[in-house]
Amino acid sequence: MKGKGKTAFWAVLVSIFLCLNLFLWLAPQQVADGHDWWKWRQWNRTVNTWIHSSFQAEARAARDDWHNNTIINLPLRNSHTEISVYGGNWGNTGWRGLASVESVGFGWWTCWTWCIIDHGHARYNDFFGGSTGTSANSAARGTMCQEVGHLFGLDHSAGDCMGRGYFSGSSNVVGPHSVSDINNKY
Ligand SMILES: [Zn+2]
Ligand SMILES: [Zn+2]
Repeated sequence: MKGKGKTAFWAVLVSIFLCLNLFLWLAPQQVADGHDWWKWRQWNRTVNTWIHSSFQAEARAARDDWHNNTIINLPLRNSHTEISVYGGNWGNTGWRGLASVESVGFGWWTCWTWCIIDHGHARYNDFFGGSTGTSANSAARGTMCQEVGHLFGLDHSAGDCMGRGYFSGSSNVVGPHSVSDINNKY
């Protein structure tokens, strides 16, 4: 009897472990699609940001937009930290912009599951071309604007950079809709 009880105990532990792993494998894809139940360790609403590689001026403009216009803070750092925003040429990947969660943690107080983002990348793929520069016409800036928004859990929505490529009348900058989404969320 004792042996059987132990086996059942381990079976339960192993299946819990497998469920958690499955969840982790699914996680990056879900965030790439912009589901909005993701959170950072946001008790101080601050997520450190590193801008590097190509298109740094555009990346900085996108970062400034979120930092200056919403309640979240993205202090600039000089090394690999919580968010990386960068451009490059990754070839014909099928994406011009990509938000990827690189690691997640356990949210004891917020959500009871592995839903806390520890580290994410917001990327602009220059392979598909488009306008560059830091103005509000810049496609590169707009792409990074949207990918940073995804890292904070925003989905595509009309009216500003979160609608780029999905809704007409979108822009390359953070607009009132995204400001209120962020301010309600965090
Ligand atoms: Zn990284
Ligand atoms: Zn998107």
